Amino acid sequence: MTPEALQAFEDRIYSYVGKQVCVRAPANDPVNATMIRHWTEAMGDTNPAYTDAEWAASSARGKIIAPPAMMFVWNQVGFPVVSSGRPADPQTEMVEFFNQHGYTGVLGTNVRQDYVREVSPGDTVYLESVIDNISPRKNTSRGPGYFFETLSTFTNQDGEVIGTQRFKVLKFMPQEQPAAAADSGKLAVPTRIASVRGHDNGWWWDAVDQGRVLIQRCKDCQTLRHPPRPMCGKCQSMAWDSIESTLDGEVLSYTCVRHPRVPGYPSDPICAVIRLAEGTNLVANVVGCDYGDVSIGMKVRGKVEQVDEKTTLPQFYPA
Ligand code: ZN
Repeated sequence: MTPEALQAFEDRIYSYVGKQVCVRAPANDPVNATMIRHWTEAMGDTNPAYTDAEWAASSARGKIIAPPAMMFVWNQVGFPVVSSGRPADPQTEMVEFFNQHGYTGVLGTNVRQDYVREVSPGDTVYLESVIDNISPRKNTSRGPGYFFETLSTFTNQDGEVIGTQRFKVLKFMPQEQPAAAADSGKLAVPTRIASVRGHDNGWWWDAVDQGRVLIQRCKDCQTLRHPPRPMCGKCQSMAWDSIESTLDGEVLSYTCVRHPRVPGYPSDPICAVIRLAEGTNLVANVVGCDYGDVSIGMKVRGKVEQVDEKTTLPQFYPA
């Protein structure tokens, strides 16, 4: 692309900043107990503030509230998007413009929700959304591209803000992976993407480095939890210790990641949710068999293994 063409391209994409993706519109249905129940069941969230009318009546709120994280649920279009596609708007137009210029890759990189106000059954959630900002061109490990961020604002029937959501997406020009190296049976360079180790989960990865998979345990009610987090979801205690997993388990769900190719894997990885014998779930690779041999409910046995020069991971073999 010549400097002039790049300038024209960028002038066009930056012209989308500030454009409304959708004008303020109400959800199809008001906030209702049925959708709250489906959502909390799927999430395994048993907080009585969301579903127990009697409990909620005697709470400080005096009534049921919807889980704040459901904020984005109410205005989802649902099945029509699958059957007839998303209606055209400035965002779909901008994405198509990126695609036409070779920026065909798409990667959701960040979601941030801020909650301001609660809603209860009977309230109506309104959504409006705008393309808030687009970054300068960046060279990323996936290829050159631009990050764009949409800002969605959720309001109630009185126009009061319930919360906001910022959604950041990278549109990039995919780079060819070194397929020859990946197919040779040796590990491709670079090595696998390093785990992100923070204050709340660094201890878990440090144990993996030493060959052990630990499961966090609440010191007060003994409930096990994974992935690691500071607070017990059952009793809200911050006190915890851990137990070591036997790594016996079974496949709860699985898929094979074929495209785009993941760096550092000798072949397309089989990614599975493993239900450990202790009762918690863990996402890990199934190895030592073909994709076609994996099935839901299959018994597996884990081993903590060094998978490249920098990375140690639990991997699961057919038992
Ligand atoms: Zn607890």
